[in-house]
Amino acid sequence: MITEERSSSYKLAQRKAPHIDTFVPIQKEKLGENKILVIAGPCSVESKQQIKEIAHAVKEAGAVALRGGAFKPRTSPYSFQGFGAKALEWMAQAREETGLAIVSEIMDPNLVPMFDDYVDVLQIGSRNMQNFHLLKAVAQSKNPILLKRGMGNTLEEYLLAAEYLLLEGNTKVILCERGIRTFERHTRNTFDINAIPALKAQSHLPVLADPSHGTGKWQYVEAIARGAIAAGADGLLVEVHSDPDKALSDGEQSLTIPRFCSLMKQVKKIAKAVDRSV
Ligand code: PEP
Ligand code: MN
Repeated sequence: MITEERSSSYKLAQRKAPHIDTFVPIQKEKLGENKILVIAGPCSVESKQQIKEIAHAVKEAGAVALRGGAFKPRTSPYSFQGFGAKALEWMAQAREETGLAIVSEIMDPNLVPMFDDYVDVLQIGSRNMQNFHLLKAVAQSKNPILLKRGMGNTLEEYLLAAEYLLLEGNTKVILCERGIRTFERHTRNTFDINAIPALKAQSHLPVLADPSHGTGKWQYVEAIARGAIAAGADGLLVEVHSDPDKALSDGEQSLTIPRFCSLMKQVKKIAKAVDRSV
């Protein structure tokens, strides 16, 4: 997989010693420490009301951060593209009310200052993992960066993408396995469980699991969340919607609020079994 010789190419992302890990601050917590952190929210921010309602619900269930897409990378140009800056404002208002940190995807290198005004963690999506111009621009942010694995990228390519961020001087990098393209079409992507222990072994950076995009079906999200925590993930990124049937994106993989509450209970049990807390 990642050979000794090649791995030295990601000098900054590489693990230096067994117990030297990087902790990334999110809200009052540190991702990568013993406590499992959960980031939850809708795929897309759809209205001020919607994001507020979901924010309160996920906070109550134990999430530390609220995710929500404002600028959406959609496969089809005819699909909903997100409410843009207005959606970032609505999320910042939800932060005021709940204290949750805000996570949102950035696609435009020119929007880093605007994102820094509204969000606490800048997400780089799977489709942009090797958009090197974007990586260099987003690395200028003062905030942590959640870099998702490209759906067609190897772990070596992934860690080299993280290296771009680190080399620009942003040390608050979060990795996230979100599933890869395989021949299997029953699920939207194949969640690569191997990536969790492999990334933890190869790198000192914290690792999240995204069981929502990793499966594409809400029915499998809880099982994969449990598996990812058992495999050593430091946290989860989960899509939650108050009415998934009416979601403007990714409704099929979004948990209802009661289902998210159930997932949190299950994850707590697994965390305990592997000597971690939630
Ligand atoms: C998302 O988080 O909604 C998203 C678009 O994710 P990915 O980049 O993993 O497809
Ligand atoms: Mn989504």
